[in-house]
Amino acid sequence: MQDKMQKLVALCKRRGFVFPASEIYGGFANSYTYGPYGSELKKNIKDLWWKTFVSSRRDMVGIDGPIILHPKLWEASGHVGGFNDAMVDCKQCKKRFRADHLVEEATGQDFEGELEKMQEVLVNEKVKCKVCGSSDWSEVRVFNLMFKTEMNTTEGGEENIAYLRPETAGAIFIEFKNVVDSSRVKVPFGIAQIGKAFRNEIVAGNFIFRLREFEQMEIEYFIDPELAWEELFEDWLLKQEQFAMALGAKPEDIRRYEHAQEKLSHYSKKTVDIEYNFPFGGFKELFGLAHRTDFDLKAHAEASGTKLEYFDAANNRRFVPHVIEPTFGLDRSILTALVAAYTEEELEEGSRIVMKFPRNLAPVTVAVFPLLKNKPELVAKAEEVFANLSMIFKAEFDDNGNVGKRYRRQDEIGTPFCVTIDFDSLEDDTVTVRDRDTMEQERVKIEELVGYIQEKL
Ligand code: ATP
Repeated sequence: MQDKMQKLVALCKRRGFVFPASEIYGGFANSYTYGPYGSELKKNIKDLWWKTFVSSRRDMVGIDGPIILHPKLWEASGHVGGFNDAMVDCKQCKKRFRADHLVEEATGQDFEGELEKMQEVLVNEKVKCKVCGSSDWSEVRVFNLMFKTEMNTTEGGEENIAYLRPETAGAIFIEFKNVVDSSRVKVPFGIAQIGKAFRNEIVAGNFIFRLREFEQMEIEYFIDPELAWEELFEDWLLKQEQFAMALGAKPEDIRRYEHAQEKLSHYSKKTVDIEYNFPFGGFKELFGLAHRTDFDLKAHAEASGTKLEYFDAANNRRFVPHVIEPTFGLDRSILTALVAAYTEEELEEGSRIVMKFPRNLAPVTVAVFPLLKNKPELVAKAEEVFANLSMIFKAEFDDNGNVGKRYRRQDEIGTPFCVTIDFDSLEDDTVTVRDRDTMEQERVKIEELVGYIQEKL
């Protein structure tokens, strides 16, 4: 499985999906750049999400807020005081680890928040450092994950400190009143946001699984506190699972993990993670769903002095809504799509690697080839076909190498359709369309190409 990951990472670099960022300076902080195809894939996933959860629903609206928000927001939300992870250093090789992760791997138990217990396990179980193998641990201590920055305000001192948002949700709560006042939303309704979030993770890694700068797609779904919420919660879980499948994940690679009641934050009624079976270490969190009660709206109302309530005109009732929060990691969605798509196939003429993305998510929908690049009439015809297709689909023109090589390249990019213009095309206005998955070829009239592709999408 780890082997699959190495091959996938190599393909991502080779084909321009994901590059290690700052590479010419030796790389930096485990960060990555989405390359030409990776950024198309990312955009397609974002668009699918927005369409699924915002634009096709009458009970959802979107916002797009800033990364740097009023620092008081993060005090009220509890992040400044309590958004911590436990860290521990190996005294021999000086490597730093998440103490809770080491302890969980050693015992299978989750001691999140219990520093003394973690220390005890590290010592008693003689847990070994993954880098140098020794078991000489520093004290387990907490580390705040908030990214601090300084703002050029006039006051100076502590007043200058601001934070890069650790989640996109915070901005949603503080715009609750503006959204209610300016749009015609009625409870139950949701506010969605896609954007960057920053966490000073103790250990980043596993490719784009754990980053310090990443993107989230989040929803706060506001409900009447008197409503029976269990059915709605279940419905959101199903929607999250369906979205994982829309990324290409197989049902058997998706599972739910419900957080134990005693481990929940005091304000949460229920939290369930949707996990995906990643090729490193198995099932890990892909999405999350939490019932956050009225904790956030109340905390911000109290800290800001602004009432954050909803008036139900039909029943002449005023209340603070409860909230159900479905959260989706965009980078982990991309990783899931990449992992699920990666396929090696043995063919009679050798093997091939093919990225079997769901067709609507593929970075390139259709590639257009002139059979030979030194025949101007073929090139001209291919350019004409490309010009038409590229108005509607993400298309690519490719005249490099022989057609077999172009197919291999498009297979690795995951392009579902390859269109070849040959000498017959000049006679009868038909082209060959080759299917990525079956590799079968069909003759299609040029004027019917758009409809042919649209139907298969
Ligand atoms: P984990 O337990 O893996 O640290 P979390 O429980 O802290 O995750 P949430 O706070 O629920 O994560 O964040 C919501 C979503 O944001 C996660 O489901 C995940 O997809 C994504 N996410 C969180 N942290 C990171 C990160 N460091 N890099 C990439 N994506 C992340």
